[in-house]
Amino acid sequence: MSEATIAAISTPIGEGGIGIVRLSGPKAIDIADSIFINIKGRKIKDAPNRSILYGHIKDPDTGRDIDEVLVSIMRGPHSYTGEDVVEISGHGGMLPLRRVLEVAVREGAVLAQPGEFTKRAFLNGRIDLAQAESVMDIISAKTDVALTSSVMQLEGKLSRSIEKIRVALLDVLTHIEALIDYPEEDVDELSTKDMRKKLADEYDSIEKLLATADTGRIIREGLKTAIIGRPNVGKSSLLNALLKADRAIVTDIPGTTRDIIEDYVNVNGIALNIIDTAGIREAADEIERIGIERTRDTVYRADLVIFVLDGSQPLHQDDRAIASLISSKKAIVVLNKSDLGRVVTEAEVNAVLPDAPVIEMSLKEGYGLDDLEGTITDMVYHGKAIASDEAMITNVRHKEALISAAEALQRCLFSIDDGMPMDLVSIDLKDAIEAMGLISGKTVEDEVVDRIFERFCVGK
Ligand code: GDP
Ligand code: ZN
Repeated sequence: MSEATIAAISTPIGEGGIGIVRLSGPKAIDIADSIFINIKGRKIKDAPNRSILYGHIKDPDTGRDIDEVLVSIMRGPHSYTGEDVVEISGHGGMLPLRRVLEVAVREGAVLAQPGEFTKRAFLNGRIDLAQAESVMDIISAKTDVALTSSVMQLEGKLSRSIEKIRVALLDVLTHIEALIDYPEEDVDELSTKDMRKKLADEYDSIEKLLATADTGRIIREGLKTAIIGRPNVGKSSLLNALLKADRAIVTDIPGTTRDIIEDYVNVNGIALNIIDTAGIREAADEIERIGIERTRDTVYRADLVIFVLDGSQPLHQDDRAIASLISSKKAIVVLNKSDLGRVVTEAEVNAVLPDAPVIEMSLKEGYGLDDLEGTITDMVYHGKAIASDEAMITNVRHKEALISAAEALQRCLFSIDDGMPMDLVSIDLKDAIEAMGLISGKTVEDEVVDRIFERFCVGK
């Protein structure tokens, strides 16, 4: 347990209905008692666990009231941090919250670092590292699907899958070490075969988890989407139509720099992060001036390209130039302005972009948008509906650890197949186990832990 008692304002900065100052640590209750006054003289230290007291926060130096509050008491180890936690809920204004925090600090609390409450929860074994990371994902979730997946991760869905694999690998390692330690006992054919099968099974489980990573990343971070095409084909109209169809609340993501303004559109739980909206919104002549260079750059950054054509006009020289720019990208072709009659055929498009789905659309008449959204969903989910009860890899750090584990396991399997000595197998197996432990934080270095929690906000 850490000896310092930390304090922070745990609700957003600004005016709100209520605001909370949170205290955690061995002196949380004493400090709170020294600034809290209850009409009936009740003390926080005598209050039952998980109860709430009504009263006032008083400045002990001046004796003046600071705010009218409710105080919640959660004693360790069954609290968020695993330590004694006191939450002081006052009126939402910045001034009273600051004053409450100030007197708490004067009475012996120290200001919490970003993410320190959650970090303590991890260090005290309340949650593992993957669960701690999901706390931040929950805060920054952009869609319902992202939120569901983060909440599942906090509940330990991913951690359990990871731990199951890790324990199975440990099992095999124990077995191998017994064989190394007692070589006189025969290593019969079956047991090596058994071992190989067990390792191969766990390898498959890791590969299955890794297969969720692409979808997972897109769910978490959004799909970088470029809308491109010649001037006047309907790019701005398409962006506006997508934004209008999006009824979900899309917030800006903490952690990204403020000067990059990005538009998010929610398509069936996938956050489309529309890049270069400035380019789309500029006057047509401006776009023409910036031309192909800007398009090239936008295309380069995109996960998905929506290439808009005016379907009522023959393919233009510039359309072919754009098509060749995006030939190696995941792309969807929209034949807009179909209400004006269609000249461009699907075959013509497929001659230049053989893999791209082609969607007939009229933004004026309002059709084709559902088709586009459905196509995007299919591309991300690969035709499968998202199985919300399955553990999913949404975090790059976890993905990298799984890749290392898979590689180490593959080396184990090769060694076994080549009839290599068992101590060689055990070295790679230990690497695999350690890589799995990185995800839960069992084998992670302090520095990595610090870096993860630095990205949190203060008060969390
Ligand atoms: P951008 O330059 O590619 O962004 O194109 P805009 O979205 O600004 O649209 C150019 C013009 O085409 C505008 O006058 C739109 O109203 C019009 N437009 C957009 N979509 C359609 C459509 O489906 N049918 C017709 N007839 N006109 C459209
Ligand atoms: Zn435009």
